[in-house]
Amino acid sequence: MNIHEYQAKALLRSYGAPVSDGRAVTRAEEAKTAAGELDGPLWVVKAQIHAGGRGKGHFKEADAGEKGGVRLAKSVEEAETEARKMLGRTLVTHQTGPEGKMVNRIYIEDGSDIETEMYLALLVDRASSRISIVSSTEGGMDIEEVAASTPERILSFSIDPAAGYQPYHGRRVAFSLGLKGQQVKQMVALLGNLYRAFIERDMEMLEINPLIVTDKGDLKVLDAKVGFDDNALYRQHDVAALRDETEEDAKELQASKYDLNYIALDGEIGCMVNGAGLAMATMDIIKLKGAEPANFLDVGGGATKEKVTEAFKIITSDKNVKGILVNIFGGIMRCDVIAEGVVAAVKEVGLQVPLVVRLEGTNVEKGKEIINTSGLDVIAADDLSDAAEKIVKAVKG
Ligand code: GDP
Ligand code: MG
Repeated sequence: MNIHEYQAKALLRSYGAPVSDGRAVTRAEEAKTAAGELDGPLWVVKAQIHAGGRGKGHFKEADAGEKGGVRLAKSVEEAETEARKMLGRTLVTHQTGPEGKMVNRIYIEDGSDIETEMYLALLVDRASSRISIVSSTEGGMDIEEVAASTPERILSFSIDPAAGYQPYHGRRVAFSLGLKGQQVKQMVALLGNLYRAFIERDMEMLEINPLIVTDKGDLKVLDAKVGFDDNALYRQHDVAALRDETEEDAKELQASKYDLNYIALDGEIGCMVNGAGLAMATMDIIKLKGAEPANFLDVGGGATKEKVTEAFKIITSDKNVKGILVNIFGGIMRCDVIAEGVVAAVKEVGLQVPLVVRLEGTNVEKGKEIINTSGLDVIAADDLSDAAEKIVKAVKG
């Protein structure tokens, strides 16, 4: 789960990280008051969407020469004007895809005078099963770009979980960034606080790009991107409350409510499968036969008729879906339950596209009978290859 920059900054502030004062607003009228509560004389007006690269992004509805999703203002009036120009518009960045994201909220922050921009991140390194610290002097830019063209400018090391964070970790980062005197102490404290936040809040990644040295010579967190481990949300109620459902794929959100393992993709064949391995194999074979899967969906072993119905509804709500392939190998999952779910769902939402069903395993005869006597226009398939061929042919002709 991801959160907005303003939420991430509030969280990091509570861990003692140096963050500017700021206010989040959803209406342009509130922007002036919000800006007035901050010191000035510089304000930063920032679009809040779950994507980076806002500064270099552009609005779909922008006038010529207009700036991106991070703008500086020299007065509270100007802050309001800029907020008004961003709210309700669609911001496109290299992370949003060409469709962009609607800006529903603006963060107005006390502006900083920047001396240097740096990069600092903590993330879970799955290879070493440890938390890695990544830092670079090349802040404010695309870190993937830095990693590709000048990897020597990135320092990366992991922390032994048994020993935990030690001041020398902070000093190592500080020296590699060329920090001096007071800044070294600030880095030791900052990294310790970030590490503590990371562990205590079950984060998956914490990226500060840029971390800056201000004109006064102090460290400050200027941007913050935080992602949490979904599997730990059950014990992170404060974090779960920060969820912004408008930022998430509506189909994935609906699926998560029914505990379905669903991931939206951009192909044309909707898939309903039991078991992650079979779901992957089904996607592979659809590609092999010349089409693209519209989703990954594992309904799981213990799916009920209601869950199957919901899964089917999610698949058909995807406008790109031109055909559906149901591929069930019933082990724990019984074929008749799947068949009942499919029939119930089709009766409820109708069937506008071809549907191929392949059932095998527990109660397969009963399942086939339910489908055959339902009166639905279903194409039956014998095995995985046959099923994929039939659905691709039905869709592509
Ligand atoms: P991103 O583009 O989505 O990563 O948004 P950032 O919060 O990283 O802002 C992009 C850039 O705007 C930063 O790299 C800075 O150069 C600039 N910026 C952001 N906040 C301030 C500020 O307080 N003062 C100044 N002078 N520039 C800022
Ligand atoms: Mg940034």
